[in-house]
This record gives sequence, C-alpha cells and structure tokens, in this order.
Amino acid sequence: MTPNIIECPDLEVLFTELETGEGPALEHAKHCPLCTAIIEEHRLLEKDLSRLADPLPPPDLVHKVMARVAAEPTPLRRELWTGVSILAASLAVGLGVLLSSDAALSGAGTALARFVVDGKAFFDALLSGGRALWSTAAAPVAGLLAALLLSSLFGIKRLAGSGPTPSEA
Ligand SMILES: [Zn+2]
Repeated sequence: MTPNIIECPDLEVLFTELETGEGPALEHAKHCPLCTAIIEEHRLLEKDLSRLADPLPPPDLVHKVMARVAAEPTPLRRELWTGVSILAASLAVGLGVLLSSDAALSGAGTALARFVVDGKAFFDALLSGGRALWSTAAAPVAGLLAALLLSSLFGIKRLAGSGPTPSEA
C-alpha cells in the first residue's frame, strides 16, 4: 500500500499519539512526508516554547564567565572583586539598617499621627519621645549611613583611581 492513498489523520489525533509515542496516526506519519513535516514543525515550535518558558541561562554560562575572568589581568580582577564585595557589603548593611529602623520609623509615625489628632496635649510627650528616639535610634542609623557612604566612595575611588587601566595591563 502506498502512503498517499491512506488519508492523513486528524492533527489532534496525530499530536495526541505523538505525546503517547505510539498509534496508527503516528505509524502513518512515518511514511507520509506531509505528516512528517507537520510533526517536525510541531516539535520545533515546542522546543522554542520550552526555551521561552525556561529562564535558566545556558549551562556553559558560568564556564564562559569564569574563562573571561581568568583571561583578565590580575590587578584589574582584584580591584573588581574589591569593588564588588564593598558594594555587596554596603547593600547588605543598608538593607539591615532599613529593616532595623523600620520599627523606629513607624513609632515616630504613630507619635506624629497622635499629635495631629489630639493636638497640643501630646506636644511635650512627642518632644521627649522624639528626643529619645533621636538619641537611641537616629544616631546609630545616621552613623551607619555615613559609614556606608564613605565605604562606597572609598570603593569607587579605588576602582576609578590608581592602578593600571585595562588597556595598559
Ligand atoms: Zn499524512
């Protein structure tokens, strides 16, 4: 029997049998260039879709990056890592400051709201509370922020300043 005489199966049937891996429609497709082409197209489309749905980088990405890093001159690499670690530490400390000062900030907000609603009666309480808040929470927070800023500037200066440029090294 020649394949062309047999009618091509319904696409839905064909794709269903493609999923299960067996069936008369699939058997037909093996001998039918038209159905083979359809299956191939379907396969490519599914491959593209799965590539779109997969957010992972290619498996050799880390290898490529490490090769690039290894190819860089040592001084630049050291400076780069210094800058990166300073940046990471700054971000971590900054996040910690934000999280730890959150309670203090909301406390100040509550005091302010109470002051607005109830008027001058709470002025003295707010004043002393604010003073206490400033002395307990704000000073360390301000100090930390200043230290953060200085360390970041120091890191940037180290990166941008002395040492061979990439083209010289
Ligand atoms: Zn066919």
